[in-house]
Amino acid sequence: MTTEEKKKCLIIGSGPAGYTAAIYAARADMQPIMVAGLQPGGQLTITTEVENYPGYPDGIQGPEMMEHFRKQAQRFGTDIRWSYVSSVDFSKAPFKVVVEEKDTIMADSIIIATGASAKWLGLPSEQKLNGFGVSACAVCDGYFFRKQDVAIVGGGDTAAEEATYLAKLCNKVYMIVRRGELRASKAMQHRVFNTPNIEVLFNTETLEILGEKSVTSAAIVNILTKEERVLDITGFFVAIGHQPNTEIFKGWLDMDEQGYLKTIPGSTKTNIPGVFACGDAQDKTYRQAVTAAGSGCMAAIDAERYLAEKGLH
Ligand code: NDP
Repeated sequence: MTTEEKKKCLIIGSGPAGYTAAIYAARADMQPIMVAGLQPGGQLTITTEVENYPGYPDGIQGPEMMEHFRKQAQRFGTDIRWSYVSSVDFSKAPFKVVVEEKDTIMADSIIIATGASAKWLGLPSEQKLNGFGVSACAVCDGYFFRKQDVAIVGGGDTAAEEATYLAKLCNKVYMIVRRGELRASKAMQHRVFNTPNIEVLFNTETLEILGEKSVTSAAIVNILTKEERVLDITGFFVAIGHQPNTEIFKGWLDMDEQGYLKTIPGSTKTNIPGVFACGDAQDKTYRQAVTAAGSGCMAAIDAERYLAEKGLH
């Protein structure tokens, strides 16, 4: 059986951006419906402790924090569907959103908060130790490794920036780079090469991350000399890029070459009036829970104003 319903405001995604949009939309009486997606709670549900979200002086576990977000959104009446969006049709308003390839939701306004996913190397040990020394966010987790030795994989601006960030906290930072040069900008390269406790290992790949309960070392290989080596480290950071979860919007919404949604600066407006984007799906620069939440708030306010202007709310 398929269903069809009509709503004022549909939020796609359930990370900090989506839930914050829901809290604001629900409190503005827009009766939002949220399609939570395949990873309810988003990227924070795969981290452990969060210490940099304001309001939690003692820190909080990522999954628990997202439960707080969810409860707050539901308290004001957000209708959450534990499901995923399979396709959209933004050719005219109300917009058509298909859920699990069968059910249709028509919505006067759409808030996209589908986030981004970190790219991973694909090693089984990386998955096993994720949150136990393996991390894709130095700014989030670097603090746990202060005065320790860590490694970071990647040679782009993110890896370079995170390596220098980690170098301030940690004893030693190994930067594992698969080619003979960095992709990062010259300015970032300069910073890396002028930081004494960063050692760049060129032409190097990771064979395995080692450790039973948490990371204790990593086995690496120089792909030119075939020489293998074990790095004694307690933190293993992966910074090989992110992928915004925007595939289903291709052809409808303007995006950059990496797939990040384009919004009109200073707003969450996309190229289609009535469709708004917030959080990591449109932000490759900051990518923090608190900035995502802030832009979720902006999206709900933008959506409310749009509905009011159209006489729909
Ligand atoms: P990038 O795609 O620029 O770089 C990814 C890096 O990871 C490259 O060095 C790449 O190697 C390496 N890599 C990719 N896959 C693997 C793999 N499987 N194994 C090992 N290494 C791998 O991503 P970033 O996140 O660094 O940057 C994204 C965008 O954001 C860029 O445009 C960047 O300039 C921008 N940015 C700007 C900042 C700033 O201006 N302050 C800060 C952060 C990001 P290879 O080079 O061989 O492909």
